Amino acid sequence: MNETPLPRVRAEIDLAAVRHNVRALRDRAPRSQLMAVVKSDAYGHGAVPCARAALQAGARWLGTATPEEAFALRDAGIDARIMCWLWTPGGPWRRAVDEGIDVGISGMWALDEVRAAARAAGRPARIQLKADTGLGRNGCQPADWPALVGAAVAAQAEGTVQVTGLWSHFACADEPGHPSIAAQLAVFREMTGYAEKEGLDPEVRHIANTPATLTLPETHFDLVRTGIGIYGVSPAPELGTPAQLGLRPAMTLRAAVALVKEVPPGHGVSYGHHYVTDAATGLALIPAGYADGIPRHASGRGPVLVGGKVRTVAGRVAMDQFVVDIGTDPVRTGDEAVLFGPGDAGEPTAEDWAQAAGTIAYEIVTRIGSRVPRVHLNA
Ligand SMILES: *Cc1c(COP(=O)(O)O)cnc(C)c1O
Repeated sequence: MNETPLPRVRAEIDLAAVRHNVRALRDRAPRSQLMAVVKSDAYGHGAVPCARAALQAGARWLGTATPEEAFALRDAGIDARIMCWLWTPGGPWRRAVDEGIDVGISGMWALDEVRAAARAAGRPARIQLKADTGLGRNGCQPADWPALVGAAVAAQAEGTVQVTGLWSHFACADEPGHPSIAAQLAVFREMTGYAEKEGLDPEVRHIANTPATLTLPETHFDLVRTGIGIYGVSPAPELGTPAQLGLRPAMTLRAAVALVKEVPPGHGVSYGHHYVTDAATGLALIPAGYADGIPRHASGRGPVLVGGKVRTVAGRVAMDQFVVDIGTDPVRTGDEAVLFGPGDAGEPTAEDWAQAAGTIAYEIVTRIGSRVPRVHLNA
């Protein structure tokens, strides 16, 4: 056993990497402000420490999906501009107005609710009108845009709102050359142009996420909204590895080997016996499972560095644990297993796990469970 016992499992977050990535993304969009998207607990990396690191490295804005995520940043004493965009009827508009949070507005119902909250608060709401330029998700359709813009102009004149931004989101920015990119850009220019002609003069117009920031300079406008790149993860394998993109992965997921034992040939391993030993061999138990965010879809495929070699999950990933076959290698109980990290020490990457599980690396880091302590380094 190790002299200082390792914790069962932990996610180390290198905040120096986060700062490096923010600077690298700012270099790609030098004339635009940068919004660090820290929704979903900063894609699993810890919202408050990552937000602070991003601001230190020059991010001017923080972005979240839900208002509750935005309030948590204010509660931590962060007074930077914060924007949140995922609202449902009856949401906490009043608190957003009181706390000076910019809100994304995708439809008339939302504009009506935020105006009522602003009237009650006695101060204008900062709103950013979202255009659906082709993603087909949130945002206002071009056909409904004149009515929404007209109502926003009227609300601004009566003093209940200040339109601080006009914005949209790409469907296929991670596929350079996809025809929807140029089409969405043309619609975005048309919709923002219309709003400006009607008298809106927003601080920021924005549409670029990480892949657009990295590969499509014509999409940068006044601000880029970068999430995954801040954490040093590649948005898509086709765009390159993090190193090729100038990014450093921030998260390393480590575990302590919980048990090493010898088993005879023909021994089934884990639920369903989908792995059977072909010789007498050693098994190492890794105490992390799907409750910790290890994808069950990576059963029989996920990679892990144990005893100096990358090995493959033997059989099923269970709720709390999985097993690797270590052969006759001298792995001991208490040794360290590295599930993923930057890859500098031969460990697998989040991208490797994404491939093993048939998903994207965004999901691998974001789904790491609340049972896994985050340890922030280089604050
Ligand atoms: C999550 C999100 C982003 C960030 O996207 P990345 O690809 O992670 O950079 C930007 N804008 C919106 C609206 C989002 O929901």
